[in-house]
Amino acid sequence: MSTTPTPPTVADVVATLHRRYPPAWAEDWDRVGLVLGEPTAEVRRVACVVDVVPETVAEALAAGADMIVAHHPLLLRGVSSVAATTYKGRIVHQLIKADVALLVAHTNADVADPGVSDALAARFGLTGLRPLHPPAPGAPAAGAGRGIGRIGVLPRPMTLAELTRYAAAVLPATAWGVRAAGDPARTVRTLAVSGGSGDAFLGAATAAGVDAYLTADLRHHPAGEHLAADGPALLDAAHWATERPWLDDLAALLRAELGVETMVSDLNTDPWTVHATAPGGFPAPAGPATTTAPATTTVPATTLAPGGAAPVPAADPDPAPAADDKEPRP
Ligand SMILES: [Zn+2]
Repeated sequence: MSTTPTPPTVADVVATLHRRYPPAWAEDWDRVGLVLGEPTAEVRRVACVVDVVPETVAEALAAGADMIVAHHPLLLRGVSSVAATTYKGRIVHQLIKADVALLVAHTNADVADPGVSDALAARFGLTGLRPLHPPAPGAPAAGAGRGIGRIGVLPRPMTLAELTRYAAAVLPATAWGVRAAGDPARTVRTLAVSGGSGDAFLGAATAAGVDAYLTADLRHHPAGEHLAADGPALLDAAHWATERPWLDDLAALLRAELGVETMVSDLNTDPWTVHATAPGGFPAPAGPATTTAPATTTVPATTLAPGGAAPVPAADPDPAPAADDKEPRP
């Protein structure tokens, strides 16, 4: 047995993470950095989580973590009480009593290179990466390769229907799975991805000329209007699933630079827990159920060609898209 080196401190973890993800790179509205913890406290084990919720806190405490590094801020807005009678106050109490520090790396980790969306892009095997939304010139985060989201080339062209199934397979499993908007037969070569809520970057995806854009929390009107304006096809994944891949990069950085043990939470903190599709499968009729097809018929991916031409069959004789991705996947 060799002598045990002195473990790093909370301050060492903060310094390491702030070198990779400087707090100045965070959005103005964001709240990042050290939330709880004594800078001089020793850190042997770090839990990496997307959300600081009672379930992930319990997991971190059970794992004997001295520190939690989270993506989403626990305290984003001002509070006047952290009494244990409140949801977040209870968490604050638990962590302080257990002497567990908490650090948040949020939009400063989104914009970094490598950052949150690099890990997401890696799941898809995207190459030739560039940012979807680079920081404005002169902004603190401005710099080559940095920005929100990533654009890259898929390992091979896929139809949108294929890409949707591929996305469900390469992302962590959730009840939500992945849904897509646009022509299922559309060929996708270039893909933009943005971890988390990416509504705000629909215009950037259109301007970039990509074939499809994958993000989370897309909404009816912005998505519909985006497609009506001939924007890229859209894939809407579960928020947690788009950010969970980054935890592996985070943990690897902590192990490499500080020699700490890491625990990456696979606890799905996506709020959605149930997903169902209409009996008989996809697509459900948009209007009154006037279809004469038997309910069990697999509907071919037939759609209007761009420009309003006659419906064209999908080049890929696609079975019903895997609209329900509740099954565990590799
Ligand atoms: Zn997020």
